[in-house]
Amino acid sequence: MKFDFQRRGLLCVVSGPAGSGKTTLCRAFSDADSSATYAVSATTRPPRTGEKDGKDYHFLTREAFQAKATRGEFLEFAEVHGRFYGTLKDEVIEHIRAGRDVLMDIDVQGAQFIRKSIDPLIQEALVDIFILPRSEEELVERLNNRGTEGQEELDLRLRNARKEMKHWAEYSYTVISGTKEVDFEIFSSIIAGERCRSHRLVPETDGSDEEQQEFGI
Ligand code: 5GP
Repeated sequence: MKFDFQRRGLLCVVSGPAGSGKTTLCRAFSDADSSATYAVSATTRPPRTGEKDGKDYHFLTREAFQAKATRGEFLEFAEVHGRFYGTLKDEVIEHIRAGRDVLMDIDVQGAQFIRKSIDPLIQEALVDIFILPRSEEELVERLNNRGTEGQEELDLRLRNARKEMKHWAEYSYTVISGTKEVDFEIFSSIIAGERCRSHRLVPETDGSDEEQQEFGI
């Protein structure tokens, strides 16, 4: 007899301060791995140069965001840097049910909210990972090098980054950021390990007593 399994999908909640490389990491992983998908968030912040609606974010007006919140379309949402950001249920739930792994790049408030979820689907799927820069100096350098923000926005992100970094210990995993390649390798290893956890595997049997016994269920 063959040991065939289906697997429940993971919900990988990835946080870290602006400039930690978490978005790049999530994107790179979901591009490289056909079982993984990136949950595109909704936001009320305006698009940066080069950002595309529906790919980088669902860019919404405050009114449209609020309407979705009222209709209960968000799994979580939070105010970050003075703007609203939220994960739409549509970007997550069906994927996990279908055995696909969802990567969410969200702030520490969003992660705290997800952790408190009483939905068994979310609880079973959750894997939370923090990307921690090696030092504050390195973070400042990375933020400056991004060149995507003006000075005022940069200062705000730095202040928030200092606050966000204090939350690393709330996460099951912390990746102390090195090079992009090493971060990717560590991140992939965490996901590979989580995919092997026995409680995520659902044996596929023909329902016969013999097969059930063989599978130990
Ligand atoms: P940025 O404006 O630089 O793209 O993102 C700012 C912050 O918002 C980042 O810390 C990012 O992780 C967070 N963020 C992005 N999408 C979401 C979301 O859907 N929910 C929450 N809670 N935070 C988000």
